Amino acid sequence: MFESLQERLGSILNNLTGRGALSEADVSAALREVRRALIEADVQIDVIRSFVDKIRSKAVGAEVLKSIKPGQMVVKIVHDELVEMLGAEGVPIDLNAPAPVVLMMVGLQGSGKTTTSAKIAKRMTEKQGKKVLMASLDTRRPAAQEQLRQLGEQVHVATLPIIAGQGPVEIARRAVQAAKLGGHDVVILDTAGRTHIDEPLMVEMADIKKAANPHEILLVADSLTGQDAVNLATNFDSRVGITGIVLTRMDGDGRGGAALSMRAVTGKPIKLIGTGEKMEGLEEFYPKRIADRILGMGDIVSLVEKAAEHIDAEKAAAMARKMQSGKFDLDDLGDQLRQMQKMGGMGGIMGMMPGVGKMKDQMAAAGLDDSMFKRQLAIISSMTKAERANPDMLKHSRKKRIAAGSGTDAAEINRLLKMHRGMADMMKAMGGKGKGGGMMRQMM
Ligand code: GDP
Repeated sequence: MFESLQERLGSILNNLTGRGALSEADVSAALREVRRALIEADVQIDVIRSFVDKIRSKAVGAEVLKSIKPGQMVVKIVHDELVEMLGAEGVPIDLNAPAPVVLMMVGLQGSGKTTTSAKIAKRMTEKQGKKVLMASLDTRRPAAQEQLRQLGEQVHVATLPIIAGQGPVEIARRAVQAAKLGGHDVVILDTAGRTHIDEPLMVEMADIKKAANPHEILLVADSLTGQDAVNLATNFDSRVGITGIVLTRMDGDGRGGAALSMRAVTGKPIKLIGTGEKMEGLEEFYPKRIADRILGMGDIVSLVEKAAEHIDAEKAAAMARKMQSGKFDLDDLGDQLRQMQKMGGMGGIMGMMPGVGKMKDQMAAAGLDDSMFKRQLAIISSMTKAERANPDMLKHSRKKRIAAGSGTDAAEINRLLKMHRGMADMMKAMGGKGKGGGMMRQMM
């Protein structure tokens, strides 16, 4: 899985690495290739579009960190977006409910439901010390119940005794009852599949859900079926409601599209992946690990992360030194504003402080919002270097020029200058006491 995608993306991004500066044309050319590679991998077209757009807006005009190459920066941006597309965090099966916790496995025939049920049962028994009971609700295929019984024996997990003639809902009730009596922590219900979705199947699933009240409904889907797997998940979710997905046959040579589109299209997490016929072939789904595998460039990603940390630490230290000396010019103010923007703007900063809801309203009333950051930065960048270093030289005609350049007015410039003076005075006072860098250092 992912081999050809990895090859394609790898060579596209490798062509970028090593160039001196990255132009919009470079980024666009690379993104065209990325788009093509994702189409080949059978990723849904809407998902590709939003993926490429996000990368474009982040890559063009991105501040390239000192000590890394622009192409490496793009690798990191693509990596982070991939992780985001895959669902950011791994989501494990949730057993946080009163015992017995019921897991309902749904999906088409041959997708790997029975096999996956046994794999999950084995893992929960061995790794989490859970007492598990499995039951097959597939009364249509004569061999299905027997298949689960055999797998249960193989992985040393109890299965519900088979009673001929019982229907799926009856068996589901009996399984939950038996688990209660037997002190089982988890009940896994392996439902019947069909070769395709039809109405009777959906009705049966809804009835079982009503009778057994499952805590998790996991769709088992074959990753080799690509976008069909994604459509299947959407359908099952709208009819029965699913809580997560298990993608099987990730050991095969599929193109990976199902894994890549699934989260973005359905909004449901891939919780596990099947990686073989053997009972050990089950893995948790970690978006970051998958993204690393697809790009095969983990070293570049961590290099950029380190560089970013380093830059922030360097800037913070320089700012602290400046404050100690009591100097704080408009360039410094600009740096501060940019840092604040990076922290998620006003909302982000305020969100980090407890109990400031009211203050936030007041600030909004005073016109202090995120667009203010942008205007203030525009004002600062419309100044000359000399003006930024020495704001006292800003007289009427200079202000007029700056207002025109930044799309603001003299009043707004005066407000900024007043704020800067206030801050500079405060810095001086704090610097004079030989301490106080701490607060601002924390802000960064
Ligand atoms: P069900 O009809 O949905 O219950 O499907 P089964 O559990 O009977 O699986 C159908 C076939 O797929 C069996 O031969 C399994 O061994 C195989 N299978 C299931 N999961 C995987 C997997 O992750 N990788 C591979 N290679 N084969 C799998």
